[in-house]
Amino acid sequence: PARVRFAPSPTGYLHLGGLRTALFNYLLAKKTGGQFILRIEDTDRTRFVPGATEKLMDALSWAGIHPDEGPHHGGPHEPYYQSKRTKIYQDYAEELVKQGHAYRCFCTQERLLRVRESSQKTGRLVAYDKHCSYYTEDEIKENMEKELPFTIRLNTPEGSTNVKDTVYGNITFNNKTLDDTILIKSDGFPTYHLANVVDDHLMGITHVLRGEEWMPSTPKHVILYKALGWTPPQFVHLPLLMNADKTKLSKRSGDVHVEQYIEKGYLPEALNNFVALLGWNPNSEEEVFSPEELIEKFDLKQLNKSNAVVDIGKLDWMNKQHLLRRAQTPEGLESLVDLLQPMIKTSFETKLQEENASSRLERTYLSAVVNTIKDRIRNIRDIPQLCGYYFVEPDYDSDDAKALYKKLNKQAVDLALASTTQETLGSLESFDAVSIKQWIHELAELNNIKQNHLMMAMRYAVTGTRVGAGVAETMEVLGRPVCLNRLAHAVK
Ligand code: GLU
Repeated sequence: PARVRFAPSPTGYLHLGGLRTALFNYLLAKKTGGQFILRIEDTDRTRFVPGATEKLMDALSWAGIHPDEGPHHGGPHEPYYQSKRTKIYQDYAEELVKQGHAYRCFCTQERLLRVRESSQKTGRLVAYDKHCSYYTEDEIKENMEKELPFTIRLNTPEGSTNVKDTVYGNITFNNKTLDDTILIKSDGFPTYHLANVVDDHLMGITHVLRGEEWMPSTPKHVILYKALGWTPPQFVHLPLLMNADKTKLSKRSGDVHVEQYIEKGYLPEALNNFVALLGWNPNSEEEVFSPEELIEKFDLKQLNKSNAVVDIGKLDWMNKQHLLRRAQTPEGLESLVDLLQPMIKTSFETKLQEENASSRLERTYLSAVVNTIKDRIRNIRDIPQLCGYYFVEPDYDSDDAKALYKKLNKQAVDLALASTTQETLGSLESFDAVSIKQWIHELAELNNIKQNHLMMAMRYAVTGTRVGAGVAETMEVLGRPVCLNRLAHAVK
């Protein structure tokens, strides 16, 4: 069984790449009957954002990724906030100093700046010159007595460091390229490197799955593991996420936060399925997987190292597939209604009150809408956006409606209008899709016009748009009074 962790630094939101990292860790844990741990890496106090951790946990829980151990779940290695574990890291740092694997650095900011500048000029590989590693015991004591602020730095040995990675293979780093990394900052807080290694060891982590951008840190971690006398976990770096234009995924290029996708109405299982395919190959024609199927199929061997392109078109397609899957069961349909209801409220509440049509917020009505339209939409969000006519009167003055009107067959329009005055539609025994279809068919036949033309005129009248389900089905959902009213008002 794998013991894995998702170890975000809560700086605001959950990045799409973060969701993928969390998901892959979670899938590996569930697949192997292991544990998935959530650890909050919040030791950089300069980047502290109040409420960020809660937001992050909300996003994970929306995605159905529930930790076995973590800040809210407890566990044998509490606390799961690194900011509450500083003593542990300080003790290990002291131990490293004692054994010569680390040293105190008393350099001032000014000196560090000078050293960095000169190293840039001379083209040295690393910035820090190990100045403080040459202090004698007495000099160190003296500095300590003067209470000079200090950091603790890793004493990077000479030679080279080998990183074994499941995805990227063996990579050797020349230690000359590794700076003497700071392990403890002058405020007493550890840096990412020390806290991460110490916790991964103490928490019994077997596999470290994380984004490829952490690869340059990994040799430093390997050196630390060695210095502490510990065996490193298995490293599994995940390929970078890219935009379609092969640039790094960033805010400027589109939505990068899970919160934005939630807001846009994507289903959690669709977003999970989508990010699961970023860097992982299911090795099958089939691409649409339920959360359970993802667990069953997930395999570290099928991870690949080529950059993964984030294609929102694919996500939309994926969302549609999962939407259809949900709509197949009564509970699934109900869950879609749960999503739709607040969207309709936000979009139309005042208008619904004005039009005295609050009953359109009721579940039975909403579920009829979803059921009718589910094959034509990619996202529940499309319903208020594209099919507002289910809720409020169509806007016949919109450009779309006007353009549609121009294309209508004149005779069909007249017929549609007549259908209300002669009340033939009003006298249909049952106002269901089958009867309505039959009625349209007969009316077209009788007047010797194309059924399509008549349907188009009817659609225009009841919806004001060309987007929608079959016109008869739409009319059934809207109901007789609404349809008659719209026919009378739309077709002038
Ligand atoms: N705290 C790091 C982050 O924000 C964790 C990286 C790792 O998984 O080691 O992603």
